[in-house]
Amino acid sequence: HSWRSASVRSTFLDFFCGKHEHLFVPSSSIIAKKGEGSYFTNAGMNQFKPIFLNDVGDGSPMSHYRRVANSQKCVRIGGKHNDLEDVGHDLTHHTFFEMLGSWSFGDYFKREACAMALELLRDVYKIPMSALYFTYFKGDNSLQLEEDLETRDLWLSLGVHKERVLPFGMRDNFWDMGVTGPCGPCTEIHYDHHHSGNRLVPHLVNANSPQVVEIWNLVFMQYNRQLDQSLVPLLQRHVDTGLGLERLTATLQNSTSNYDTDLFTPIFDAIHKDCGTPRYQGRVGSDDLGGRDMAYRVVADHIRMLCVCLSEGILPDRVDQHGHKVRLVLYRCLQSAKVLGVNPGYISSLVDIIVDSLGGTYPELNQSCKRIKDVINSSEDHYYHTLEQGTNTFKKFLRKRKKTGPITELESGDLLSGHYGYPVPMEILTSLAQQHKLSIQIPQRGSEKQTEKQKEQVYDLSHLQSLPRTDDHYKYLYRRTGSEYEFPDLPDTSVVGI
Ligand code: ATP
Ligand code: MG
Ligand code: MG
Ligand code: MG
Repeated sequence: HSWRSASVRSTFLDFFCGKHEHLFVPSSSIIAKKGEGSYFTNAGMNQFKPIFLNDVGDGSPMSHYRRVANSQKCVRIGGKHNDLEDVGHDLTHHTFFEMLGSWSFGDYFKREACAMALELLRDVYKIPMSALYFTYFKGDNSLQLEEDLETRDLWLSLGVHKERVLPFGMRDNFWDMGVTGPCGPCTEIHYDHHHSGNRLVPHLVNANSPQVVEIWNLVFMQYNRQLDQSLVPLLQRHVDTGLGLERLTATLQNSTSNYDTDLFTPIFDAIHKDCGTPRYQGRVGSDDLGGRDMAYRVVADHIRMLCVCLSEGILPDRVDQHGHKVRLVLYRCLQSAKVLGVNPGYISSLVDIIVDSLGGTYPELNQSCKRIKDVINSSEDHYYHTLEQGTNTFKKFLRKRKKTGPITELESGDLLSGHYGYPVPMEILTSLAQQHKLSIQIPQRGSEKQTEKQKEQVYDLSHLQSLPRTDDHYKYLYRRTGSEYEFPDLPDTSVVGI
């Protein structure tokens, strides 16, 4: 059997919604709602937060949810879950990924959840047990949380070998949605890509090894974390599971890399064919001389994220966190596209591939295909313009500068705000400094002087003004500015001065 990503996804949903009588609930928006704890939806459970907190209105369909499953659009580039700096460097973290999820809201608990997970992996996807490890929560003394021996014993009773059942602490086996909110101990399933016979490699579990990769997290939601970080028990106990589609697909396609699956290879093939770039070879780190494979991964990852975000009406502007982040990802995508020798204007032609791959599951992509391309094209023009102006300004600054050595916070603040001529955006500034082998200090976010100046001088959205605003975009603007829409100010240094 060869597993295409689409059948991996549908098999998951058939298993839970068919055989195990879960209700299918569509993916929620990639834009998190007020109180969901992050700007982007970072897990399947976000939309169900009111259920966990017993905060569902009588008329809401959620009041009837008992067993639910879906495939959820997720983005993890800020707040509690921020994977942006790993993307491209490793083969398992994406900015955008799909989380296959199953839930029990006050219905079944640990035993059934573990039994179903095992049944699906072993009997349906036919993953050999000798490839799997199962972790459970070992407790935490300072928080007076007990070791989850119940879960350990459950795995053993389901026939898992005891050497494959391993305890871990808060970092790996206690799941939090954000700084506050629903949380609880979890049990995770990890896959050993190099499994052979009964050879055991427990030391590679949760060790950041490309060999043993976490694929599925089963969270037992039991607490609501308060602002003071204390844990208040929930009224009911719930199950919340999340299985990464890209990682599962990689294991089923016998690949150690998510990028060597049909979710990504069509993108690489197109770039190779259309632009004459040498083929993607899957090299990482120092093996990847010139960073070409890294650039391939960044482009492929980022274009997927961009399609999903733009399809929901977000624009790469500077108005708020969503726009900032989308813009940052777009700039990084274009920087990497340059490494691949891709011509300006080409990136938007990859949109069709993404829409083909994801549009069946997330129909909003089909409807906004043309607009996604328009936004990318006009932002790209703006990017190249900014790059040229920024580079000239930077050179002028270097020439006029009396001293040598690292660029100080004050100097970079002035560069960002346009003091030396054209305002040099953060992504461009850091990459120019890198090219000139100069270390650089960036001003702290929230420094009033900088944000005021940025508002006046750097918020150049003229290139986006020519684009027709669509219903989606207005809906998005309403959601983000409407009174029902506000976010906690999470510390997030990665957006400094963009
Ligand atoms: P990791 O430890 O690998 O960063 P995680 O523990 O942060 O993963 P969870 O919050 O437990 O991940 O999410 C559930 C599942 O979603 C993971 O087991 C994994 O399969 C998938 N997943 C999480 N983050 C990413 C990502 N950035 N890209 C792709 N898949 C992801
Ligand atoms: Mg993580
Ligand atoms: Mg983990
Ligand atoms: Mg996890």
